[in-house]
Amino acid sequence: MQVEKLEKRKFKKIILVMGDQLSENISSLKHYDEDSLILMCEVINECTTPKHHKKKLVFILAAMRNFANLLNEKKYNILYVKLDDKQNTGNFTSEINRISKNYNCNVLYLTEPSEYRVLADIQNLNGLNVNIIEDDRFFCSTKEFKEFHQDKKTIIMENFYRFMRKKHNILMSGNKPLGGKWNFDQENRESIKTKINIPERDFINNDKITVEVKALVEQKFNHHFGNIEPFYLATTRVGALEIFNNFLKNRFSSFGKFQDAMLEGEDFMFHAHISFYLNNGLLEPKEVVTRAEKFALDNNIGLNSVEGFIRQILGWREYVRGIYWLKMPDYKTQNFLNAKNNLPDFYWDGKTELNCLKESLRNTIENSYAHHIQRLMILGNFALISEINPLELSEWYLIVYADAFEWVELPNVLGMVLFADEGFLATKPYASSGAYINKMSNYCKNCKYDVKLKNGPNACPFNYLYWNFLIKNKDKLINNQRMRMIYAVLNKFSTEKLEEIQSDSKKFLKNI
Ligand code: FAD
Ligand code: SF4
Repeated sequence: MQVEKLEKRKFKKIILVMGDQLSENISSLKHYDEDSLILMCEVINECTTPKHHKKKLVFILAAMRNFANLLNEKKYNILYVKLDDKQNTGNFTSEINRISKNYNCNVLYLTEPSEYRVLADIQNLNGLNVNIIEDDRFFCSTKEFKEFHQDKKTIIMENFYRFMRKKHNILMSGNKPLGGKWNFDQENRESIKTKINIPERDFINNDKITVEVKALVEQKFNHHFGNIEPFYLATTRVGALEIFNNFLKNRFSSFGKFQDAMLEGEDFMFHAHISFYLNNGLLEPKEVVTRAEKFALDNNIGLNSVEGFIRQILGWREYVRGIYWLKMPDYKTQNFLNAKNNLPDFYWDGKTELNCLKESLRNTIENSYAHHIQRLMILGNFALISEINPLELSEWYLIVYADAFEWVELPNVLGMVLFADEGFLATKPYASSGAYINKMSNYCKNCKYDVKLKNGPNACPFNYLYWNFLIKNKDKLINNQRMRMIYAVLNKFSTEKLEEIQSDSKKFLKNI
């Protein structure tokens, strides 16, 4: 970068651009003028606390370096601090202090950081006039979400999603939803029973910077979780756009139908695999939603696909962010079900005989990715019914996925998966037995356990752990309207059956 040239002059303000703000339209850059110095820094603290997946580190750092190069080519004044620069002090706030002193700056601009901890640290900086600007990449600002919430006991995602659809005029026909229905969820649940053609995973050739960063990560963070190769991710906007375009052309039409389906050896299914780029700034949610809507209308893509896809971005993604900012910092420590077990070792090494978990963990280790149903109904469901403690599980999810940033990971893990927020986010726990996994996947065929058996050493552990979870949490869950039917079934179990469930669960949990 232009360090030598920059050292000869002074600047009035620093514009800090973080690793998940890699967009030329980012709101902080709108304050750029000739007296501004853009600062980007790689800091060791953010790589090692916690110790992120190696592929995730390559992705974040290579995308940052490529973005800095782009700004440099466009003649912005930019100072880029690399991880192994001698004077690098290792965290954001000390770097801001060091650079502001070096260049005599007393004003700092930045787009609101996505993480509560970072925002708090920056707000506590002394000696600088700090200007935090709204992140207008989102459809809904944190302020608007708070207003939407007002004093409601909870916010139902579906209500919020309809509000967003109307407000932004997406998939609308006048005042009514396109196709006459708001939600095509019922048409998003087909499994794949016969052989079908699933498009190959997209693979972006590694550019020079990515190759350089791969070597750096290999050398510095070799002991971290996961594999660097195959490194298939895009680290520039051009590459991210290529992946999104391929999704529209090759996967979009089947996305809706097979959104919840899982198949052995198929790591990406018909999913878009764009969360990485939406979260680090290479793609913008508004462009993705607008282009998906237009593409669907121009190419006769079924409403179950386009509505299903847009619901994830305009609905879920905005909703979890709203909840994060509404509920932090207390959110992080919630544990309504008082779950206390430690995360089993196989979440780290993938060595388990439960085939559904083995497949989802293989995807996680190899690709730093797992699609939604693997995250929710396999890895999440297992942790819920095995009573894994929320802090440990959320740290694991934050480490292992290349798209994981706390604002999106935490509400999904704590709220959606673990019901640790007492149902603020999800109306009921997403707990299920092996039957659901067998219905939506072919994992059970090659598993040591028998999904049809309810108890005993060969029974699918999801079967007894599921009922064990319901038994243990009866007092807390029985009054949930959506759990009444299942508790009516449980109430009919004989004492013998209840004991068998509890004894099998105890044995299994003791051995993991
Ligand atoms: P697709 O299935 O193609 O969906 C399209 C887009 O919708 C995604 O790219 C994503 O931006 C958005 N989206 C879908 N579901 C959600 C959701 N529940 N919350 C927020 N956005 C959503 N997503 C992350 O981006 N980062 C995370 O750290 C993360 N952690 C998760 C943890 C758990 C336990 C669960 C259940 C879900 C998590 N998700 C997370 C949501 C979702 O699983 C991923 O966004 C998705 O799997 C990414 O793959 P994709 O781009 O192929 O998604
Ligand atoms: Fe998973 Fe049970 Fe099926 Fe095995 S039998 S793959 S453990 S659901």
